Amino acid sequence: MKGEPQVGLFDKLRDGLTKTRASFGRAVDGVLSAFTRIDEELFEQLEEALILADVGVESSEAVLERLRELVKQRRVEDPAQVRALLAEVISELLTAEGDEGLQLSTKPSVVLLVGVNGVGKTTTAGKLAARYGAQGKKVILGAADTFRAAAADQLEIWAKRSGADLVRHQEGSDPAAVVFDTVSAGRSRGADLILCDTAGRLHNKKNLMNELGKIFRVIEQELPACDREVLLVLDATTGQNGLAQAREFLSVAPVTGIVLTKLDGTAKGGIVISICRELGVPVRFVGVGEGVDDLQPFDAQDYAKVLF
Ligand code: GDP
Repeated sequence: MKGEPQVGLFDKLRDGLTKTRASFGRAVDGVLSAFTRIDEELFEQLEEALILADVGVESSEAVLERLRELVKQRRVEDPAQVRALLAEVISELLTAEGDEGLQLSTKPSVVLLVGVNGVGKTTTAGKLAARYGAQGKKVILGAADTFRAAAADQLEIWAKRSGADLVRHQEGSDPAAVVFDTVSAGRSRGADLILCDTAGRLHNKKNLMNELGKIFRVIEQELPACDREVLLVLDATTGQNGLAQAREFLSVAPVTGIVLTKLDGTAKGGIVISICRELGVPVRFVGVGEGVDDLQPFDAQDYAKVLF
């Protein structure tokens, strides 16, 4: 992205993942340094350490299975060498095969943010508006989270900051109507990107399904040929609960990508591995702070590198 050196991004990711790195590195090193040779006990303890770092049971098993293979294939005998192999396995698992990245090439394209309250949807909408705005795109924001009193005000601040237009209605109004007006305004003003923050109340699956369904129908009707991304925002501090939440959303919405926020506030960054492996939806961005620059495109190799 313009004006953002890659080195800076990597440093920011590393700083943002300080807590995760400390717990992850400590756990892995603790196991490896306790062994003088590689045996089944070492593998079992590593698996336990990964589970504790919120990698999840299934994914930890998968990591260890691949690690055993590599150790055998490469005839590694020194526990100290296992660290690098582990980084390699994790990087492999985080990399989605044949993935071409976000599809936003039509004018306009649409990005919808979904997720439960408090995960960072509105903040992410603001950060994305700033990111694409800085790339020279004309962005229009739709405040379709009409249930949370402060959401539209919050988005208005982000819109001003990033130079994006904002469409908002009164609190409590129909989210699909906001999306409709945002799409209309986006079309008439020649927007490149229509970015809608939605309300994601999960207390009633049927409600949520109806609400999101209405929004998707508006977009389908108004912009049938446009590229669209439905990004599910998850709060990394909720660990494995976030994964359960994600499954609920995946069952009601055509989610195309994940944004994982608040990685800076948790030692549970291992959750990324579970998400990549178990949900079948790519992680697109990670949030490592509250500032405008604290949303980064997810890069599997960088992430694995930072963890170790
Ligand atoms: P929403 O209800 O899903 O729209 O959530 P908000 O966007 O209002 O965010 C909830 C809180 O999380 C706010 O205080 C945000 O500043 C904060 N937040 C969002 N993303 C991040 C992040 O990546 N890191 C940190 N530390 N805080 C974040």
